[in-house]
Amino acid sequence: MSNKNENHQTVPLSVLLKRELANEKIERPEIVHGQASQSKKGEDFTLVKTECQRVVGDGVSTYSVFGLFDGHNGSAAAIYSKENLLNNVLAAMPSDLNRDEWVAALPRAFVAGFVKTDKEFQERAQTSGTTVTFVIIEGWVISVASVGDSRCILEPAEGGVYYLSADHRLEINEEERLRITASGGEVGRLNTGGGAEIGPLRCWPGGLCLSRSVGDMDVGEFIVPVPYVKQMKLSSAGGRLIISSDGVWDALSAETALDCCRGMAPDAAAAQIVKDAVGHKGLRDDTTCIVIDILPHEKPLPLSQPKKQGKGVLFKSMFRKKHCDSSSNVEKEYIEPDMVEELFEEGSASLSERLDTKYPLCNMFKLFMCAVCQVEIKPGEGISIHSGSSNPGKLRPWDGPFLCSSCQEKREAMEGKRPSGRRRDSDSD
Ligand SMILES: [Zn+2]
Repeated sequence: MSNKNENHQTVPLSVLLKRELANEKIERPEIVHGQASQSKKGEDFTLVKTECQRVVGDGVSTYSVFGLFDGHNGSAAAIYSKENLLNNVLAAMPSDLNRDEWVAALPRAFVAGFVKTDKEFQERAQTSGTTVTFVIIEGWVISVASVGDSRCILEPAEGGVYYLSADHRLEINEEERLRITASGGEVGRLNTGGGAEIGPLRCWPGGLCLSRSVGDMDVGEFIVPVPYVKQMKLSSAGGRLIISSDGVWDALSAETALDCCRGMAPDAAAAQIVKDAVGHKGLRDDTTCIVIDILPHEKPLPLSQPKKQGKGVLFKSMFRKKHCDSSSNVEKEYIEPDMVEELFEEGSASLSERLDTKYPLCNMFKLFMCAVCQVEIKPGEGISIHSGSSNPGKLRPWDGPFLCSSCQEKREAMEGKRPSGRRRDSDSD
């Protein structure tokens, strides 16, 4: 009667499948979003694409994309960016990457995609410009690229607030003021004539309050489209993201925005934030908000626990950068398998710093492609991103990545190395 496999612990297929499913669920969060807007000028636009698919090995992986475009001086640049930016970013991604490689290649693809979108839009000779806050969520990793002042904030389930976008307002960003004056622009307030200066700091010619945007060909090419990029990995406890145009942030602090909608589902939360912002300051500008909850599958509820005081301090001690202490790594992974981590942060406006060679896989596949617009370059015709670089160091002018001559012109104009043709008074100062 006794079976020779009696002592063999067999696991029923159903259990195996359940385990597989559980792993999958731990690996991939549920993404729930909502948005709200009150329009004054009709120049705020949003992009929401969940369940985007890409081929990984012989399977398919999904990611979500969210964008906010706050246009000024017309809505053409905002609409153009909404319609083309994602494709331009994806075109700069090498194919056949696993998930980690894909996430690591995103910051560079963001830079190429933003510059390409700006260049294409300017070639259409339309006025107007736009801020862009562009978010890609792949697994538990949030990647944000931004120009302008539409902020993106993150509250992980563990507590604390993280700013995932830069604020490219001339008024508060001294580094950008220095970059613009070094590139030949002028920064000052509006002069009413009698010597009185009013309003925020602006860049002249043009009078824009922002130091970075997409579009704005009439302002000067030192208003660059090179995005600040930040990547964070959430723990599997998840978190809440809020992306809003300046209409919200002029009225509410990050903490106030998070607190006013705690416990609400994303669509109600977004409506509440817009309502509070408008109620506080009146509808003086387009006011748009996207709320995104990144949730573990087991508990598909909005983050509703009021946070304890002192969470920031507690959280800071939990927060750690990726480190390479190999001796303790294995043990640490066991004790703290699941932490919030800062993966990447870079805000330089310099293309040679941003399209670097740290990610060699891109070069292997794309040696004879322009690193920005992805057109094919004949061998010998590409211009190294390092040519004319003030930091020769280890980089040689014949090292890639390479730009086509048109993108090289764009780069030089952005760095103030040649008048952009559209700029007047380029010989003054
Ligand atoms: Zn090019």
